[in-house]
Formats: sequence, C-alpha cells, structure tokens
Amino acid sequence: MTQDQIETLRTTPLPPFRHIVDGQPVAASDGGTMRVVSPIDGSLLTTCARGTKADADAAIAAARRAFDDGRWSGLPPAARKKILLKWADLIEARALEIAVLGVRENGTEIGMALKAEPLSAAATLRYYAEAIDKLSGEVAPTDPAFLGLVHREPAGVVGAIVPWNFPLMIGAWKFGPALAAGCTMVLKPAETASLTLLRLAELALEAGVPPGVFNVVTGEGAVVGAAIAESMDVDVLVFTGSGATGRRLLEAAARSNLKRVYLELGGKSPNIVFADAPDLDEAAKVSAQGVFRNSGQVCIAGSRILVERSIHATFVEKLAAHAAAIRVGDPLDSATQAGAMNSERQLMQNLAFVGEARAAGRHVIGGARILEDTGGYYMSPAIVADATREDRVFREEVFGPVVTVTPFDTEAEAVALANDTTYGLAAAVWTSNLSRAHRMVRKVRAGLVHVNTYGGSDLTVPLGGVKQSGNGHDKSLHAFDKFLDLKTAWVKL
Ligand code: NAD
Repeated sequence: MTQDQIETLRTTPLPPFRHIVDGQPVAASDGGTMRVVSPIDGSLLTTCARGTKADADAAIAAARRAFDDGRWSGLPPAARKKILLKWADLIEARALEIAVLGVRENGTEIGMALKAEPLSAAATLRYYAEAIDKLSGEVAPTDPAFLGLVHREPAGVVGAIVPWNFPLMIGAWKFGPALAAGCTMVLKPAETASLTLLRLAELALEAGVPPGVFNVVTGEGAVVGAAIAESMDVDVLVFTGSGATGRRLLEAAARSNLKRVYLELGGKSPNIVFADAPDLDEAAKVSAQGVFRNSGQVCIAGSRILVERSIHATFVEKLAAHAAAIRVGDPLDSATQAGAMNSERQLMQNLAFVGEARAAGRHVIGGARILEDTGGYYMSPAIVADATREDRVFREEVFGPVVTVTPFDTEAEAVALANDTTYGLAAAVWTSNLSRAHRMVRKVRAGLVHVNTYGGSDLTVPLGGVKQSGNGHDKSLHAFDKFLDLKTAWVKL
C-alpha cells in the first residue's frame, strides 16, 4: 500500500450504488436513494438505494427460492468451499480498492481498515470454507435395536443486520459460516456503511456464488431491517448493533414466525489495572489502544479503566501521554492512527458526554472537536480521570474515543465496579499474580476477559456477550451452531 495508490483511489468517482438481489443490481422499488456523505470532509460521495419493504421482501423471496431449490445447500460442501475460497481470493486481490472505498464512507484509518475489513473478511471466508467439509454428524450410542443419527442441516434463509464500524469484518462473521453451512442470506448494511458490502456481493457472483444466495439490500433500519425481522420467510436473524434495536428484533421475531435471533450488542467493558501489573507503561499503552483505536468505535472498547488507587495518578499520566501521541486526522493518510467519527451525529454525542463530565466538575483531559475546517468529524481522545460509578459516562456506552478512569482499593471492589453494568461483552485484568488473574477471569461477567493485554484476539476464539451484550457468538467453529440445525433420524433396525 503506497500513499500514491491511496490518493488515486481517494478521488475515484463513484457511481450510484444499487441493491444486489437475485444476482442483479436493482434500484429501490420506488426509485428512492440515500445520500452517502464522507465523514472525512462532509462531502457527498454518491447515493445508494433507499430500500423499501417491497425490496426487502423481494430479496427474501429470492433467498428462499435459492435455498429451497438446493442450488447452494444441495452442493457438496467441498464445492461450496471452492467457490467461497475463490471469493476470498477476489476480495484479497482488490483489498486496497475496497478498503479505500470503505474509509471514504465510514472514516476508519486506512491501515486498520485494510487489515480489519477486506483482508479480515477474506480470512474469515477461508476459515469457514475450509471447515465445512470437516464437520460430521453423530451416531448416537443407543439401544442396538435402533440407529440414532444426528444430522446437521443448513437452517435456511438468514437475515443479517450489521453496523457501520466494521461492516466487512462483522458482516463476514455472519455470512462466512452461514453461507459455508449452506444457508442463503439477505444482509442489510448500516445506513452509513453500505458500499463495501455491495462491492463484496458483486465479487461473490464473480466467484460463482449462485444468484439469490447472497443478497444485499441497503436502506433504513426501521424499514429494511424491520421488514427482515418481521418476515415469515427468514429462519434465522443475526444482528450486531445497539441494544435498543436488538430489543425490537426480538419483538418482531415474537410477532412473526419465532425466528431464532442472535444478538451481538454493545459494551461498557472494564479494564482493571492492579498495582502489580507486569509493566505499567505497557498497560497504559495497550489500554489507550484498547479504547481509542478506530476512535473508540469498537464494541469491545475498554472504555472503563479501573485502577488500583496507589497507581491511579501515575497511570493517568501515562495514559494521557499515550492518548496525546495518537495522530488523529485524515483516515486516508497512512500516517494517521485514528480517523474520523462515522457521522456528525456520533461526534456530537461523544462531545455531549465529555461536556457533561466537565460540567459535573470531573477532571477531563482532551476530548475536543478538532480539524473542523476540513468539514470532517474529528475529535481528540478524551480521558475522564476521576469518574464515579454514578456518572453517565461511566454507565452508558459512548462508542467514541472517551474513557473513564476510576480508582479502587481492593480486589473485591474492582470486581463490584467491573460488574456494575448492564453489559457483559469484554474485560481485561492486568496483574502479575497468576491466581488473581484466574480469580478475576471467573468473577468478571463478560464474554471475553483479557489478561495482560487488550483486543487482538483472533478468529479461532468466540466473541459474544453475556447480560445485555447479547446472546450469540461470532467467530470460531461455534458460529456454525447458529446456521446448522440438528435433526434426529431414529431408525428401528
Ligand atoms: P444500531 O442498532 O443503530 O444499528 C445497527 C443496524 O441495525 C444498522 O444496520 C441499522 O440500520 C439497523 N437498524 C436500526 N434500527 C432498526 C430497526 N428498527 N429494525 C431493524 N434494524 C434496525 O447500532 P449502530 O449505531 O449502527 O452500531 C453501534 C452499536 O453496535 C453499538 O452499541 C456497538 O457496541 C454495537 N456493536 C456491537 C458489536 C459486537 O460484536 N457485539 C460490534 C460492533 C458494534
């Protein structure tokens, strides 16, 4: 990746984008479009289709036909594998072009976008493609007069609704295992991150994924997303996004066909630093990265740092130094370390949290709007250095570059503070004491607990929350469980 290549792609004019349904680009049924605005400078990039309920229903019908006639589920697993591997190759071959397209739309800095978006999507496709012809059913250890077989069958039509922060990475965590399993899919991207998923759907067709197997319908959540959730023809609904939307999806499933709903929701993840952390400077550096990468627009961001009181002041000083060193700016400059907020609305929400903490007399470091003259949505990392558990910024997910630091005195108090949240997505503990590390892993309620690190886990381990952070798992072979139904054959011999 060179800066020259990026500059060429930065200015490439973009055509209007349309849905990909049943193997074809199609406009919205009423001709409606949505403006695609770049968070880099607030400019109009292009438009994409503003989907209607009829568009969602047409895509679901296409996915239903494609599932029921066996054009995909009826292939030998090794044949699906071959096509998915080719798709991964095509994505990888165009990785920079796709990454820049995504950055122009959602503002993630290019180095991270390249790795976390097209390259990660390609790796995810490969992982699930490679796995699918290695999963077998079971023969039950039962009465020899009978044969009990447990088959694993593709679950049917999958609806997927994804957010804007990492549309390809999170999208691939859904469509990788779902398509490998033999399901078909209708995917709805977030309003502010649609283009790269449409591009991937084109490449799927080029790779040989049959028409109707992978459909992408863009538009508003309350219209297209709601239509998918209400559909009688969607068998499984997978979602990553906010808890408020997750609740609506569960209600819609209950009102319609009781489809299974798997939710990956938000977090307010505690990052607990004990005075015996192996290397305090490393802990501060990784903690800064753990909350400020992608400008905090990361579901597992370690946004509540809890620090043993004896090292509170030293830790805050180190954290502030690392935060100040983060280069915020144009996400298409390869030297940038944190790009733009995804939208003006997101920026304003972040600044409101910071303003409220300041008004309450908290010690706030950083957290200002910057580079306003570019027309883009940038802010410096913010540290609320003495937050209490009553503060809104301690309790609510910000989804921006804002971290709270709160002192504690004992291990028990650290656990109580860590668990004082409705969320349970991720956590971390920094300590040299092995027994304490394992005690904390057990006591902190979260789907992922890091020890002496933050972030960076890979595809081989599951990611999912407890409490109000969700009920499903992306990544790892466990992801197949969502898309493969168990069927028993009970045979009298
Ligand atoms: P959001 O819930 O507003 O939107 C997510 C998706 O849901 C979008 O595609 C949106 O169009 C759609 N949607 C919105 N309203 C809908 C409705 N009524 N019916 C159907 N679909 C609807 O969330 P967001 O602001 O895009 O994303 C940020 C949230 O996502 C944060 O809470 C963050 O923590 C969470 N997130 C979680 C993970 C994870 O793996 N757990 C990963 C990334 C983001």
